Amino acid sequence: MAESTQTPAAVRNPSAYGWCAWHENYARGVRLIRVIEQGSGPSPALFACPSCRMAYDLVPLDDQS
Ligand SMILES: [Zn+2]
Repeated sequence: MAESTQTPAAVRNPSAYGWCAWHENYARGVRLIRVIEQGSGPSPALFACPSCRMAYDLVPLDDQS
């Protein structure tokens, strides 16, 4: 299974398993919190797990506006 990139489809999966940028480890149920606009770099998007979203009061991009 190829999973070298994070696709928008995976971003919208509420049970997605991925990298939490806040506690810096893999976790289940990560959501896209912020997209970093930059020309280079391996991680243009920041994901947070449910625990970190609660701890840091983070709102997923899909739930904003
Ligand atoms: Zn976390």
